[in-house]
Amino acid sequence: ENQNYDYDVVIIGAGPGGYVAAIRANQLGLKPVVIEKDKPGGVCLNIGCIPSKSLIHQADVFRHRADLAGMGLKIDESGFDYSSVFKKSRAAAQRLSKGVQSLLKKNKVEYVNGEARITGPHEVTVDGDKKISGKAILIATGSRPREIPGFEFDEKQILSSTGALMLEKLPKSLVIMGAGAIGMEFAFVMNAFGVEVTVVELLDRVLPLEDEETAAVIAKDFEKSGITMLTGTKATGLKKGKTLEITVQDKDGKESTLKSEKLLVAVGRAPNTEGLGLEEVGVTLDRGFVRVGDYYRSSVDSIFAIGDVTSSPLLAHVASKEGEIAIEYLAGHHPEARIDPLLIPSAVYCEPQIGSFGYTEAKAKEAGVAYKTAVFPYRGAGKAVAIEQPEGLVKLLFNPETKAIIGGHVVGSAATELIHEILLAAKAELLPEDIATMVHAHPTISEAVMESARQAEGWAIHF
Ligand code: FAD
Repeated sequence: ENQNYDYDVVIIGAGPGGYVAAIRANQLGLKPVVIEKDKPGGVCLNIGCIPSKSLIHQADVFRHRADLAGMGLKIDESGFDYSSVFKKSRAAAQRLSKGVQSLLKKNKVEYVNGEARITGPHEVTVDGDKKISGKAILIATGSRPREIPGFEFDEKQILSSTGALMLEKLPKSLVIMGAGAIGMEFAFVMNAFGVEVTVVELLDRVLPLEDEETAAVIAKDFEKSGITMLTGTKATGLKKGKTLEITVQDKDGKESTLKSEKLLVAVGRAPNTEGLGLEEVGVTLDRGFVRVGDYYRSSVDSIFAIGDVTSSPLLAHVASKEGEIAIEYLAGHHPEARIDPLLIPSAVYCEPQIGSFGYTEAKAKEAGVAYKTAVFPYRGAGKAVAIEQPEGLVKLLFNPETKAIIGGHVVGSAATELIHEILLAAKAELLPEDIATMVHAHPTISEAVMESARQAEGWAIHF
């Protein structure tokens, strides 16, 4: 194959999948180009991870006025203006999107603003006229909020996550369909700012991807905060008007009506595969997602796909890692062919938070994998008590014979950070004993991680 191509790799989409792949390509001596129709940073930086974390942080700060009141400091709330909260979240998104732009520049990655369509196994056409050729093509076009019939987004009253992030004024009431990470994060934010929140979830518990025990801690906390949680409940109809009327049906078929100013539909994401010319070029889809094999190669040899557009977990760090693997492979290295699904951290960023990876108890049972658990509660760690965050726990799942760690679940303050110690141990094939005997600073919540490992060894000190 001695053909001359314009680039070694043509990357479509500059989200956490595409932009990281582009930088890695340059680092490894390949010549990449990125084509993006919107803004650098994709969903994650512009209308996903980053603005939502800004809102969550500010909601948490706002919540702490109760702590200040406990110190005799009363806050006059009359000047509170949600539009400043909104503006800060946009500023964080813009700052990071600009950051991606300069990173691309620093790494000499060519950036083309436009809509790409694949017009051959080695050819991409931008905005219908500009043809670009590449030895390989990397699809990183991501996903968008999934719409369900009868609840179509108008982004005024019926919101997707994007509409919810763009609210400049708080509604009085909000019904949220879907108790996954996105739904629960918005429930936390809106409740903290005083919105009347009802969460409607079809399954019989919240955060169905998380371990039952950690998800239950969040559910209990949310209920205590005044969020109405309707699990095992289906939204069946919607009547529009100044106030929305949402019909819901519980497990026994009993119907009732919820009245709400706005509705957020957060029931999953749909891959961006339309208009890309995939069928014409022979790229196989699997339930709408691009089907990929080792190194994230599609059914066409020269075309790869990573991130939300494939059926991998819809997480920014997954998109980035998959991009790195595909690029390293294209550069002639020998990376692992796929990310080990058991070593992917997932996180829910409300307060309390969840950080987790590997098997949940339910998944282990379903797969017939033998396991034992070790649990240590936050209230056993002095630091958690001192900082008034005693709600939470660390849970390990390990193989009863070899003691290999096959799952880690942390719920509570800083859980999304704490999970990485357990994950590193699992990746390095360390055992609970190694965590149990490593000296941890006192007082830290990390001591709860150490104690959970000691619990696995049968000798936790503070339990
Ligand atoms: P995207 O980020 O979707 O980027 C794809 C890019 O491709 C877009 O910029 C798009 O404009 C561009 N594009 C599409 N089609 C074309 C075309 N034909 N031509 C040119 N450009 C095109 N994940 C986490 O890990 N942690 C979180 O805390 C988190 N929070 C989230 C909160 C919300 C509210 C949402 C919605 C998502 C969140 N996610 C989070 C998920 C995360 O945003 C995605 O997993 C991640 O953005 C996927 O990256 P990607 O590169 O695959 O695609």
